[in-house]
Amino acid sequence: MTGRLSGKVAIVTGAAGGIGYQAAKLFASEGACVVCADINAQAIQAAVTRIVESVPATPAGKPCALAMACDVSLEAQVKGLVDRAVEEYGRLDVMFNNAGIMHPEDDNALNTDERIWDLTMSINVKGVWWGCKYAIPAMRRTGGGSIINTASFVAVMGAATPQLAYTASKGAVLAMTRELAMVHARENIRVNALCPGPLRTPLLMDFLNTPEKKERRMVHVPMGRFGEPIEQARAALFLASDDASYITGTDFMVDGGLSAAYVTPL
Ligand code: NAD
Repeated sequence: MTGRLSGKVAIVTGAAGGIGYQAAKLFASEGACVVCADINAQAIQAAVTRIVESVPATPAGKPCALAMACDVSLEAQVKGLVDRAVEEYGRLDVMFNNAGIMHPEDDNALNTDERIWDLTMSINVKGVWWGCKYAIPAMRRTGGGSIINTASFVAVMGAATPQLAYTASKGAVLAMTRELAMVHARENIRVNALCPGPLRTPLLMDFLNTPEKKERRMVHVPMGRFGEPIEQARAALFLASDDASYITGTDFMVDGGLSAAYVTPL
């Protein structure tokens, strides 16, 4: 442990999943108290048990992480999440709005059902808004903080394998993040978007379930491999920490060079 988040309090949403779990664990191991939120109550409790077992308690004797079931698309639940963090740990310094869905029925403009569009927007866009809406007043009370909103490389690049609602939702996250960063810059509240590239997670690997499908995707990735959730977590840690004290309003690409590629190496 190097204590890069020593004394800070963080919330991570979607903390039972790939990126969120790795980030919550890393934040805790760097000295933060972490409120871990997820819609899946059982999975978030199990995730927190694993984190608490691997990271020592805080100097005040409190566990370094606690679990909270929360659907980020519901305003009252997100308000409750921020309230809980402040009640338990006294402040809020880092809000990692990471929960998001990519629905299997999400498709092109002709085939995507309105229900899938609305569900995707309510979690991926409105969920981020609620997280910011309640984190900002809490951060103001202690003189600032860092908000990280998870977008995606698809927010800046078009794909011929459409997931229209998802892509539009992540574009909205980028635009919202930029504007929030401007509005709150003088309050020492930094707001950045994390843009992961394609990751070696079960969701994507199940989708690319033959060597041909994997290769068809891989040809676009200059580094020649899919990313790992921990690589996103390390970027989130940087943006959360004071090491990023002059960084706000960025589209922070963590994508193996994908979004910079024209022709990739053989
Ligand atoms: P994941 O599916 O492993 O984790 C997402 C977590 O969010 C899950 O634990 C899920 O239960 C939770 N969740 C879903 N709906 C929720 C809700 N309404 N309220 C609270 N929690 C909810 O996915 P991941 O790969 O860790 O993705 C995390 C973020 O990264 C998402 O925003 C995703 O869009 C983004 N992203 C992922 C990739 C990738 O290749 N995996 C690429 C680009 C962006």
